[in-house]
Amino acid sequence: MSGSTPGRLAGTFRGFPATFSAGGHHREACLVKPDLHIVGAGLTGLTAAIEAAERGWRVSVAEASSRPGGRGRTLAAPFRANAGPHAIYVDGSWWAWLERRGLTPPVAEAPRAAGLVRAGGRLGPWPDDPGRAIAALPAEAPAGESLRAWLLRHVEARTAEAIIGVAFIFTFDHDPGRLSAAFAQERLRRAFAGGVRYVIGGWSTLVGLLAERAAGLGAEIRTQARVPAPPAGPAILATSLATARQLTGDGSLTWPSARVATVDLGLRAGGGPDWFRVLDLDDRIYAARYSLADPSLAPPGHELVQISAACAPGERKADAERRVQHLLDQAWPGWRAAVRWRRSALRTHCTGAVDLPGTTWHDRPAVSRGHTLAVATDQSAAPGLLAEVGIAAAQLAVRHLEDRRVPAGLPSSGTRGVA
Ligand SMILES: Cc1cc2nc3c(=O)[nH]c(=O)nc-3n(C[C@H](O)[C@H](O)[C@H](O)COP(=O)(O)OP(=O)(O)OC[C@H]3O[C@@H](n4cnc5c(N)ncnc54)[C@H](O)[C@@H]3O)c2cc1C
Repeated sequence: MSGSTPGRLAGTFRGFPATFSAGGHHREACLVKPDLHIVGAGLTGLTAAIEAAERGWRVSVAEASSRPGGRGRTLAAPFRANAGPHAIYVDGSWWAWLERRGLTPPVAEAPRAAGLVRAGGRLGPWPDDPGRAIAALPAEAPAGESLRAWLLRHVEARTAEAIIGVAFIFTFDHDPGRLSAAFAQERLRRAFAGGVRYVIGGWSTLVGLLAERAAGLGAEIRTQARVPAPPAGPAILATSLATARQLTGDGSLTWPSARVATVDLGLRAGGGPDWFRVLDLDDRIYAARYSLADPSLAPPGHELVQISAACAPGERKADAERRVQHLLDQAWPGWRAAVRWRRSALRTHCTGAVDLPGTTWHDRPAVSRGHTLAVATDQSAAPGLLAEVGIAAAQLAVRHLEDRRVPAGLPSSGTRGVA
């Protein structure tokens, strides 16, 4: 059984005049865009659906799950935990894209409550040194060098390790020091530029806005509609990169990513500590009390805490959870008695691409995969950070297929491009 969210526009082809070149002859023709199939209704697939529908494609989106959103979904009440993203960057090109369409969700800033850092086994206030040192670093870093090697040329070893620990928050890597300096420095600059916000009501708020706009533009979104293979004709695979690899059988669709254990806790409020977030530099753990920024995420008298812990290759989820518990024992005495709800998971290849030294986003798997297929994921060859990569890939995917669209009445094979 599949459910559908039919668009408000009638599902007829829309044509427009254009000049095209085929077989050496130039002529005016009415271009009829064929159907565009999008696999996956996460943030990337929904963005692709909007971009394509705006350009006149007749779009259908197939989503395996019972509702759109993918990793961008938020659990239903009482504890409205985000499945994946928390931070949206209002200084990024995706935010500008949303603004141009009147699709920006309501957002909140991090509360002024204190932050804590655990370093050398001790908890303390966020030190000023790494922040100052990050601000003093050169704006650009080399892609050919590791973050650790590059930092050691600019700051003393202790500060370098502190900055590497901070870089865990937005790379999710167990050792951000091993990553390309250019990759990590771009993220450090963005994270400290003051552009981080939290989506009120969780990221499902944004998913709802995107799905509604896509449907309003005529896109059909079918849920519980798992696609077993790439559809024939123009198609965008907007799944994870691993799923795109399985669907296409193309082993080159692979790129490094992080392994993260997530622990979500719903706790009784009252008598808790006064921090909003804790960053464990020793153990690469980040905990934030997101309902302090957005009280709608937890029922009255309760709060929602979401925690990410980097996992080295081979580390078991249970061991990562023990590290999380150890941090909470130190940062939140009595937390165990306050727990009302909890869930945990080990997430692999879920937090986007990481670039190792000698590589940049240009080296990741290309979005265009031949004449009628594009693969748009958050590990694709596209700029941005975290979810922004998938969004940029969605835009590249639509442009790729747009460049190869087939004028009406012409055979599809061998027919290229429209001026
Ligand atoms: C713990 C964690 C924290 C994160 N924090 C942030 C953050 O703070 N900021 C940020 O920007 N990003 C963050 N991210 C990354 C962000 O969640 C992802 O980059 C983004 O959600 C990816 O969206 P997507 O649409 O590309 O993929 P997905 O969300 O994975 O969507 C793919 C969709 O395809 C569907 N699908 C798969 N196979 C099929 C099939 N065969 N047929 C039909 N449908 C199919 C899936 O059900 C899914 O809905 C975080 C991720 C995690 C896991």
